[in-house]
Amino acid sequence: MLNFPVPYDAETIYSVIARAGVNLAVLSPKQLLDDVFQDRKVVATMDLPCNLNKIAFHLQATGKFSALELIYQHTLFPLYAVFVPEYTRLKAIELMCESSGGTVHMMLGIAASNVKTDGYFRYCKSCLQSQYEHYGVAYWKREWFLPALKFCSEHGELSVMTSSFKEHRHSYFSASDLIGLSVTKDSKRGEIGQKISSKAIELLQIPPITSPSTNQWTAFYKKLASDLSYTKGKNVCHSSIYERFIASLPEASLKEWGLYEGLDSETGWLKTMFRKHRKSFSYLQHLLIWHVFLPELEVKEIIRQVCNMPLNKTKHRPVVEKNLEPSGECLEKRCEWEMIVKKLGVKGARSSNGGGALYAWLYRNDRIYFLAFNAKYKKKENGARVQKVNWKERDIKQTKRLFRLLNDSEANFPKQRMSSNWFLKQLGRDSMIYAYRDKMPLTWQFLNTFSENVVEYQLRRVAKYCAEQERKGNDIKPWKLYREAGLSDQRIRTETRAVLSGLGYIDA
Ligand SMILES: [Zn+2]
Repeated sequence: MLNFPVPYDAETIYSVIARAGVNLAVLSPKQLLDDVFQDRKVVATMDLPCNLNKIAFHLQATGKFSALELIYQHTLFPLYAVFVPEYTRLKAIELMCESSGGTVHMMLGIAASNVKTDGYFRYCKSCLQSQYEHYGVAYWKREWFLPALKFCSEHGELSVMTSSFKEHRHSYFSASDLIGLSVTKDSKRGEIGQKISSKAIELLQIPPITSPSTNQWTAFYKKLASDLSYTKGKNVCHSSIYERFIASLPEASLKEWGLYEGLDSETGWLKTMFRKHRKSFSYLQHLLIWHVFLPELEVKEIIRQVCNMPLNKTKHRPVVEKNLEPSGECLEKRCEWEMIVKKLGVKGARSSNGGGALYAWLYRNDRIYFLAFNAKYKKKENGARVQKVNWKERDIKQTKRLFRLLNDSEANFPKQRMSSNWFLKQLGRDSMIYAYRDKMPLTWQFLNTFSENVVEYQLRRVAKYCAEQERKGNDIKPWKLYREAGLSDQRIRTETRAVLSGLGYIDA
């Protein structure tokens, strides 16, 4: 896809795709999905989009924006990355590069978390205005979509639209359409929300690092309690922590964020965070504790301290792996799952009758085996598919077609520049060829040798005009030559000008 927009600072991938649709005047949402992903089933996702290899491919000419950079700089992934085990972090990255079928949200614990995202479009009017002044367009910023937090760190409460992402499942809604829109909600409150939002932005800026283990998180919060003298011997004084926490944050905000209920109970999340970590907590739970107990420290410093906590023997291994003695029920379900997968593949098995329930059960109760088996099976499937292609034969056939195109061009004189992209478009499979560049050396040799640059394109048009005039026995008139060859003083390249003046058609 040519002229794919380059992402602005903190712009979501969703927004970049929406802008691509506007720039290229693609009116049909399905057509846009086709152009961007070559897949009409992709779901337009604001927070954690997938298929990022394809976006990185459209941006490859910029020399920046690998899929990993896109994940860390233009999605909400960093809100989760350091809080989940390393194994989950890597698996989620892998899924976001390809198509995931919604697994990423499940893996990162978003569906199960108390801290929910409402799924509505949100924006900050003042930010929109300044984007418009700077760039002439508006775009969706990732920090407007923090789960539960609806604040711009600079300007206060965000405006929430009445339409949700679900209503626009396969289409991309451009932020530029918001200019001039009436606001549904805009009030001045929530200084605390603003402060937490700016902490969240610090978290979003953490670069890719290995996730701390659950043991390191446990050690970090134990040490925090002890540094603040909230311990008696080896025990943590949960009641003192609770009192300071509740006194520092407005009850209404905690309620709004879904973090108030059961806060003081024995199994409440605040106590659990100061005990041995057995599961991941949400970004907001961590940020609130840091806001109350470590107000002076920057987020990156906190993460650095956690990463420096001693790793003990379980290291980066997921905690579940230790008690891997599968029960009878577990073995039965594994067997059942493997049988369906062998027949229908992982995707087919999941949507088959009873397959969905089996999928959910294994995911919940036997995750390590389950993800490993599925990944292995998918790899095998892909391997089988890739091996079927005879690359050598394809390369030769394709190069022959390219030569035919080149020969035909003398007679039918293409109006566009015969660039590499032009040739590939004629073949009708441009993105595939880029992706398998290494496997098709002849094709690439052809493109490097025969594709036209701008000067060659200008001279081809000049030559056409001159040959025609000669055939008709006419004189060559410079003004006519310019017009017929589509040249102008602004567009003509120095090299073209030199040739024309060498031939005596124009003055040097
Ligand atoms: Zn703002």
